[in-house]
Amino acid sequence: MSLRKEIERRRTFAIISHPDAGKTTLTEKLLLFGGAIHVAGAVKSNKIKKSATSDWMDIERQRGISVATSVMGFEYDDYKVNILDTPGHQDFMEDTYRTLTAVDSVIVVVDIAKGVEPQTRKLMEVCRMRKTPVMIFVNKLDREGKDPMEVLDELEDQLQIAVRPLSWPIDMGERFKGVYNIYENCLDLYKPSKQSVTESVHMDIDSPEIEKHIGDKLATQLRDDIELISEVYPDFNTEDYLAGDLAPVFFGSALYNFGVKELLDCFVEIAPSPRSVQAEERRVDPYEEDFSGFIFKIHANMDPNHRSCIAFVKVCSGKFERNVNYKHIRFNRQMKFSSPTAFMAQKKEILDEAFAGDIVGLPDNGNFKIGDTLTSGENLHFKGLPSFSPEMFKYIENADPMKTKQLQKGIEQLIDEGVAQLFTNQFNNRKIIGTVGQLQFEVIEYRLLHEYGAKCRWEPISLYKACWIESDNPAELEEFKKRKYQYMAKDKEGRDVFLAESNYLLMMAQQDFKNIKFHFNSEF
Ligand code: GDP
Repeated sequence: MSLRKEIERRRTFAIISHPDAGKTTLTEKLLLFGGAIHVAGAVKSNKIKKSATSDWMDIERQRGISVATSVMGFEYDDYKVNILDTPGHQDFMEDTYRTLTAVDSVIVVVDIAKGVEPQTRKLMEVCRMRKTPVMIFVNKLDREGKDPMEVLDELEDQLQIAVRPLSWPIDMGERFKGVYNIYENCLDLYKPSKQSVTESVHMDIDSPEIEKHIGDKLATQLRDDIELISEVYPDFNTEDYLAGDLAPVFFGSALYNFGVKELLDCFVEIAPSPRSVQAEERRVDPYEEDFSGFIFKIHANMDPNHRSCIAFVKVCSGKFERNVNYKHIRFNRQMKFSSPTAFMAQKKEILDEAFAGDIVGLPDNGNFKIGDTLTSGENLHFKGLPSFSPEMFKYIENADPMKTKQLQKGIEQLIDEGVAQLFTNQFNNRKIIGTVGQLQFEVIEYRLLHEYGAKCRWEPISLYKACWIESDNPAELEEFKKRKYQYMAKDKEGRDVFLAESNYLLMMAQQDFKNIKFHFNSEF
């Protein structure tokens, strides 16, 4: 198959949702269709269940599950589908943000009873920022939930994206009959089954056959609904979807495997194949012959005796091959890889080649950090791995003076892996760790001890946000830094960051320094 054909048939995406909406269940059903697994229950949830009794090894073990399910590739029709898993726990939200930089599109799962939940809203902000095409699956129709019309309004309002239903539910809960597939004009009747594939009957919405299947009352209701939808929502337009401006919506029940095939069939047809990726130097087209890619995730081995990691590379262009020399741009050094891995469903296997859109796992002993670029030779630096302002901050201090070096190395490597963010205060040189949640501090402490033999201690610091600052007015910037010297820090790339103690102080700073821009993420 030609390079172009190989790349065109790839669909690389992530499923995102608030925990418990049904991401794992949907993933599993997609894998069933791909023939990648054969029984339900084969995909382990990578949810981290924090209980009073769980120790950190337990968390690491739970986190480890996500190595196996980090990327799930399978063949479906003529397509190669790559699903990138995202951690459900909100303390690991940054992992999810980064994963979103490696996908070409996203499926959002929403629970019909709960509607849009906070984590979905946050993740959607990142999709909007990157103009990622989004499809929505409204799940759990086998249970009672909100009115589907209301859910559409809620999606539009809270996710700030135009929506267009491409399937429509016929009743719900115990009375759930199925969906009318607007995209394909067929009636899909619901047969509760956790394993089997649904059958659908082609049927125009005006066909009297519909009455035979769902009765007069529901048929009338369905026609009214479909008419209303066509009046309220513009016709579905693939271009708007690809531009990230319009989200097609499907309804179903992942648990009972209903509406999933409809979603998948439409998805492979309209979802984008690998798209061009912006490097600092230029835009890189996936169909270029030369290989290029970037590291978007590093996963530590669970075995504390072997400090090895897997670095996940998103192939941005061309073809990656085993045992071929590639340039590690930051090191300006050639490297080749004898055992790169592919992730086909549950199995990790050595791969010989991979194409733009694919994810390759490289065994790593500290050579890589998040954002590193590999190429066939050209000096490229891929952009678009933003850091967001953390929510929680703590000073990290050495608790064992004999292990200063180990602590330093440990912190450096964990930060390179993207476990948390590091800011160095310019005033007192103290190191501040910023996280999304408490769990990250605990993971750092545990890993420093078990992998580096270093002991750390946390000290409180009360901060509201970290803001990356810039200005067209160098004099004002200098003046600001001088005035706020106690609150100025450098991030790991050496960029200037203002540590705002409170929203009020931030507002004051914004008022006093009109020519300075304060950003809550590093990609501006
Ligand atoms: P995740 O946290 O988003 O990965 O959610 P899971 O896939 O683990 O699902 C959370 C819970 O919801 C589990 O108990 C599932 O069995 C259940 N669930 C998922 N999909 C459905 C569905 O379509 N209908 C019903 N009734 N339950 C579902």
